[in-house]
Amino acid sequence: MIFTLPGGVPRLACDECGCHWFDRMSDCCYECGAEVSAEAKEEYLRALAAFQAGKTAVPAPTAGNRSSKN
Ligand SMILES: [Zn+2]
Repeated sequence: MIFTLPGGVPRLACDECGCHWFDRMSDCCYECGAEVSAEAKEEYLRALAAFQAGKTAVPAPTAGNRSSKN
């Protein structure tokens, strides 16, 4: 499952117990030992990419440019 931290940062959590800690060597949950599914990892990467895209794609609202050319 994917958690969203305050500030919008996505965080991968165990589907079984909700724990946020994983053994990176084996991609297993520290708490219950459940494997992180490829689906969960993909979902997390998508969420992370969306978060980062959103962060960088937002233009500064106070830039001095008047209305952009339409
Ligand atoms: Zn777990």
